[in-house]
Amino acid sequence: MYKGIAASRGIGIGSICRIVEQDLSFEAKLVSDTAAEKDRFQKAIDDFVEETFAVAEDVRKNIGPQEADILMGHAVMIQDPAMSGEMLSMIDAGQCAESALTSVCDMFHGMFSAMDDEMMRQRASDIADVKVCILKKLLGIQDVEISNVAPGTVLVCKDLTPSMTSQIVKENVTGIITETGGVTSHSAILARALEIPAVLSVPGIVDLVEDKDTAIVDGTAGDAFINPDGDVLAQYLIKREEYIKKQAELKKFIGKETLTADGDKLEIFCNIGTPKDAKKAMECDGEGVGLFRTEFLFMDNTHLPTEEEQFEAYKEALQTMEGKTVIIRTVDIGGDKDIPYMDFEKEDNPFLGFRAVRYCLANTDMYKTQLRAIVRASAFGTAKIMVPLVTNVEEVRQVKKLVEDIKNDLRKEGIAFDEGVEVGCMMETAASTMIADLLAKEADFFSIGTNDLTGYTMGVDRGNAKVAYLYSAFEPAVLRSIKRIIECGKAEGIPAGMCGEAAADPLMIPLLMSFGLDEYSVNPVLVLTARCIISKWTKAEADALAEKVLAMDTQEEIVAALRAAAKE
Ligand code: PEP
Ligand code: MG
Repeated sequence: MYKGIAASRGIGIGSICRIVEQDLSFEAKLVSDTAAEKDRFQKAIDDFVEETFAVAEDVRKNIGPQEADILMGHAVMIQDPAMSGEMLSMIDAGQCAESALTSVCDMFHGMFSAMDDEMMRQRASDIADVKVCILKKLLGIQDVEISNVAPGTVLVCKDLTPSMTSQIVKENVTGIITETGGVTSHSAILARALEIPAVLSVPGIVDLVEDKDTAIVDGTAGDAFINPDGDVLAQYLIKREEYIKKQAELKKFIGKETLTADGDKLEIFCNIGTPKDAKKAMECDGEGVGLFRTEFLFMDNTHLPTEEEQFEAYKEALQTMEGKTVIIRTVDIGGDKDIPYMDFEKEDNPFLGFRAVRYCLANTDMYKTQLRAIVRASAFGTAKIMVPLVTNVEEVRQVKKLVEDIKNDLRKEGIAFDEGVEVGCMMETAASTMIADLLAKEADFFSIGTNDLTGYTMGVDRGNAKVAYLYSAFEPAVLRSIKRIIECGKAEGIPAGMCGEAAADPLMIPLLMSFGLDEYSVNPVLVLTARCIISKWTKAEADALAEKVLAMDTQEEIVAALRAAAKE
């Protein structure tokens, strides 16, 4: 068995097609006819852009807008004057097109891959993908026709690039195994959108297999088997049937309310990162948006987003959600989320530093632009404002004051907005847990961000592998924090939601039900799974389980007890 990263769920069994890296070496030459060389280069770019646009259109129709945008991004990137202009000047100076392309792409690749931010590092792999595509055009190299592979194929390759993924015919490819890539890589996003089981980052896998070998891809566990023996194959054929049956069972929950086994109504919302994701939330039957991360407006940009740009983005999400609640989190930048044009000072402890609401309240012009855009957009649906990284009451009061000032201005200007737009707290620090009783008097709602709450409660840097064993929402300290936050909210009559990853964890859900969580905000693809799990538990059963595990001392005991009680 080979262990990799579980990047796209499900079990695929099939016959391997290896995608071997092509030899892209070339001899760097000096050219004298620079005009002809520039024409050759331009033709390669034009062909690439034309093909990419065509494929992106297919992807938009057959897969989705977010996936198409990844490809369009490639075409836009290579035409960016910063890149293509630099390449053309190098050709003018006598370099061949292959050299100019390689030097400039490698330079940008190095720059992006050195950045701390995951999104920026993703750009580095996009650049590498574009470089290879254009180099193949210049060298006249033909790719394996992924679109023509036979039904029942498992693709094995070094890296599954977006340009390769876009050629996949979903009916023919039953699994994917790669040597590189992580859960948030574009190839993983595309594999999930196509619902093809994928295991990524299996070291050296391409050289370990032959074409036509049999492979099992367990994209849920992150396991891959090559030429498995009869017993393993039989076991996985059964597992695959069970998985397919489960998926069919989930379909029963489409269009249904989220009800506990007692018939009590709860809500499953979605986490989104762009207005386009709101469409996915609707398609996946989300009952609202529990976390709209607004960082994309600031990160995918070359300037501070204007009020109008932001207003359009929030309005689009609200209109797509057709009146359902959209909780818009004000921007959580600074710290690890660097923005190139914003010139943040380097900090020794960025996670404990000048970020999120702290940065925003010190830069009120920027913050007021965002709040005004949200309040204006509230006229187009049910918008709520959520404040990240709250640590004291004063921060919430200041945000509320800014919102009131903005409302007054809009009234004077005769601009429509929702008078009842709520302001809530994102509960993700140990301080907010301790003063949850005080915050509940100030805020209209709570949303628990367990991703950070776990880190800040346990004092653990989530990127540090040596202390990763402490980074668990099942630690008694984190469970007690979650319970306390919900109870303090209830005592003041405000609702509590959760938008951290724990809200979708099948083991955590019965505990959250017992604690009284009202709204579970999850990745859109997990809406039905969460609804299905909730339907299996009565409040009395959830309470009995919670009482038992809260009396336990360790994460290990708690997880074992929850596993034993799980209703799959
Ligand atoms: C969280 O901290 O749980 C959360 C949802 O916010 P983010 O992951 O964006 O920090
Ligand atoms: Mg957070």
